[in-house]
Amino acid sequence: MVIYISNDEMEKCKKIVVVGSTNVDLIARVSHLPEPGETIGDAEYCLSYGGKGANQAIAAARSGGHVSFISCLGDDAYADTLITSFVDSGIDVDYIQKCVRHSTGIAFIFVAENGENCIAVAPGANNLLRGERMDTILPVIKEADALVLQLEIPYESVISLIEYAHTVDTKIILNPAPAKQIPSYILEKVDILILNETEAMLIAGQSLDFSEPIGIARSLLRRVGQVVILTLGEKGSVIVSDEMEKQIPSYVVNTVDTTGAGDTFCGAFVAQWVEGVDLQDCVQFATAAAALSVTRIGAQVSIPYQKEVIEFMR
Ligand code: ADP
Repeated sequence: MVIYISNDEMEKCKKIVVVGSTNVDLIARVSHLPEPGETIGDAEYCLSYGGKGANQAIAAARSGGHVSFISCLGDDAYADTLITSFVDSGIDVDYIQKCVRHSTGIAFIFVAENGENCIAVAPGANNLLRGERMDTILPVIKEADALVLQLEIPYESVISLIEYAHTVDTKIILNPAPAKQIPSYILEKVDILILNETEAMLIAGQSLDFSEPIGIARSLLRRVGQVVILTLGEKGSVIVSDEMEKQIPSYVVNTVDTTGAGDTFCGAFVAQWVEGVDLQDCVQFATAAAALSVTRIGAQVSIPYQKEVIEFMR
């Protein structure tokens, strides 16, 4: 069903821009991880779409957000399929660039029966989101209410986007994944930091006692703009801001695959937050969306729609 929105209604919509990675995961399920030189002849193949940027854009759009996704794809067959799937989730794809003579980001993943895995990532076009390509997206960021970033595109691009968004007063939500150190002069420009335990350990730069997660989030808040949300897997999350400190337990569900739980959480959170929803309610909604996602196999296919989340929370 196509829903038509008038120009007036579009004007009122809060705008979210996600700038980040798109990856295709090529997965081989194998009895054991191959030794150097070994060929395993009976692997089971499956393909799934991922990339933290794409996952978070999809989660925000399925949660009702008006999302523009900015990402670089290759000029291969994956690109068209990916763009179609973004459009199906309700994402504005006008700023997605197909880069000639480059491939879409690919992750080659071996998963053994005992759960061990090994992964090689070829970032491909994700590495091209830099330099002049960045200049063309600045007006979109200026117009946006919220900018969502992760660390799977060139690091210097993330840093310059944070600096730019700060000067034009677009709210910045950073999910510093995969974990990397962030300099303090950048962290203080971030409005909301959403991170897991591994990322917290790296950014806090010390060994942390996770039996005291609120204390950890509090110590990070001294270095961040407004809010720190520390996610704790099946233990839920904590929110710390100047006004509140709160632990939100996760929902008890039948977990089958936690891939993309954090991305679902971030995207669902932002879609609520940008609309002015109370902080704790945003986290509650994100917790429910993430819980639903872990009951399903896969990353993007497991991300729920707003209606499903609302029904789940009843
Ligand atoms: P990441 O995927 O970035 O490592 P987490 O593992 O902390 O992030 O998960 C993010 C959120 O997803 C958690 O705060 C929680 O709300 C939800 N979640 C993760 N694992 C589970 C689980 N097994 N059961 C229910 N909710 C979960």
